Amino acid sequence: PPTVTTVNLVKIYQNGGVPVPAVRGVDLTVEAGQFVAVMGPSGSGKSTLVHMIGGLDARTSGEIWLNGKRADTLSESAWALLRRREIGFVFQFFNLVANMTVADNVELPALLAGAPPREARERREYLLGELGLTDRADAAPAQLAGGEQQRVALARALANKPSLLLADEPTGNLDSRNARDVLRLLGEVHRDGQTIVMVTHDARVASLADRVVSLLDGEIVDDGAVGTARRRP
Ligand code: ADP
Ligand code: ADP
Repeated sequence: PPTVTTVNLVKIYQNGGVPVPAVRGVDLTVEAGQFVAVMGPSGSGKSTLVHMIGGLDARTSGEIWLNGKRADTLSESAWALLRRREIGFVFQFFNLVANMTVADNVELPALLAGAPPREARERREYLLGELGLTDRADAAPAQLAGGEQQRVALARALANKPSLLLADEPTGNLDSRNARDVLRLLGEVHRDGQTIVMVTHDARVASLADRVVSLLDGEIVDDGAVGTARRRP
C-alpha cells in the first residue's frame, strides 16, 4: 500500500469563533520510497497538512491512511503507538527531552522500540557523525544553538529508520555547511527507501525530491515529478 493517503482532508481552525480554513480537501497519495517536497507560500497550509498526516493536529474531516491502515479514526494512544513505530518527525516544536543529553535523546527512540543497546549506540554514533554533532553528544539541548537542535531532532527522528519521515523546514535555520550535511543525510535516507514528506522553501531540498506538491490557500495547485530528481537504483 502507499505510505500515505489522504482523502478529501480538511482542517478548519477556529480563531475566536471565526473559521480559518487551512487545508481544503487535499487528496494526496505518497508511494513507499517517494521523497515529496511540499512547497507554497506562507499560510498555504503546508505545516497543517503535514501535522495532520502525523496525527499532531486533529483533522476537521476527511481520511488519513498510513501504510494501508486507517489512522485518523484511531484513539490518541493507538496513533501514538503507530507514530512511534513508523514515523519520524522533524518539527520546530517537536521537542527534545530537556534533561537528557544529545546522545541519550538520539538513542532513546531505538531503545524504546526494543533495539539492542549496542545497535542503538552505533546508530546514534553514525547519525551524530553524519550531522557533525559528535562533539556535542554530552551537551543538553538547551546548551545548543538553534541549528544544532534542529540537527539533533533530525538524528533523533532517524534513529528508528522510520518508514515515513515527516519534516517541516529541516534546513530553515542552518548555515550552508550544516544544511549540506542535512541534505546529504536526507539523500541517504531516500536511497535507503524510506518515504519522506517534507515542507520546505529550500530549492536545494526540493531538487533532491522526486516530486513537488505545491499548496495555495489550502489546496494542491501543482503536483509534479522533478526532472532532476535522483532516483533510487
Ligand atoms: P504554512 O505552513 O503553509 O505556512 P500553516 O499550515 O501554518 O501554513 O497555516 C495555514 C493557515 O492556517 C494560515 O492561515 C494560518 O494562519 C492558519 N493557522 C495555522 N495554525 C493555526 C492555529 N493553531 N490556529 C488558527 N489558525 C491557524
Ligand atoms: P509554521 O508555518 O512552521 O507552522 P508558524 O509561525 O506559521 O510556523 O506557526 C507557528 C505555530 O503557531 C504553529 O504551531 C501554528 O499551528 C501556530 N499558528 C500559526 N498561525 C496561527 C494563528 N493564526 N493562530 C494561532 N496559532 C497559529
